[in-house]
Amino acid sequence: MALLQQWRDKAYNDKANKQELQKLWSDYFRKERDIYAELLKNPDEEVKGTVKELADKYGISLEYMVGFLDGINDSLKEPNPIETMEEDTVVSLAFDKEKLYKNMVGAGADWLYKLEAWNDIFSEEKQKELYLEQKKSGTVVKPKKIYPNDPCPCGSGKKYKKCHGKNW
Ligand SMILES: [Zn+2]
Repeated sequence: MALLQQWRDKAYNDKANKQELQKLWSDYFRKERDIYAELLKNPDEEVKGTVKELADKYGISLEYMVGFLDGINDSLKEPNPIETMEEDTVVSLAFDKEKLYKNMVGAGADWLYKLEAWNDIFSEEKQKELYLEQKKSGTVVKPKKIYPNDPCPCGSGKKYKKCHGKNW
């Protein structure tokens, strides 16, 4: 089975143990945020390698790397063949800065679009402009699977439904 399918079957499995899924997602979100923080430090440098190499580079499991590639794909300059990739498939993380920022806004992920590093990439005005453009477009980027009672991925310690999940 393709890696992406394996990840989706596991991470989006309604029949799985709920506690384990919660743990998986809150752990994943923390690592995801770390990777974005790292990537945004050098936004114009293309990070490229096999799926396995990138997982090693960021110190995460292969399945998290697949989840990350799934999440970032729409924000890339050139999408990766995520549906068919295997661990030795070469992928690129070269992202379109404006698209990535907007997709983070569209997903309601302020723990991502408010990452410090964005301030070195876009002025405050530009960030506002992109934010409004995204909101006006009405495009809702489907958030990842989080249950209402899960801890919010922003790390506030509140339940998702009382924090960022309010918008959904
Ligand atoms: Zn939150």
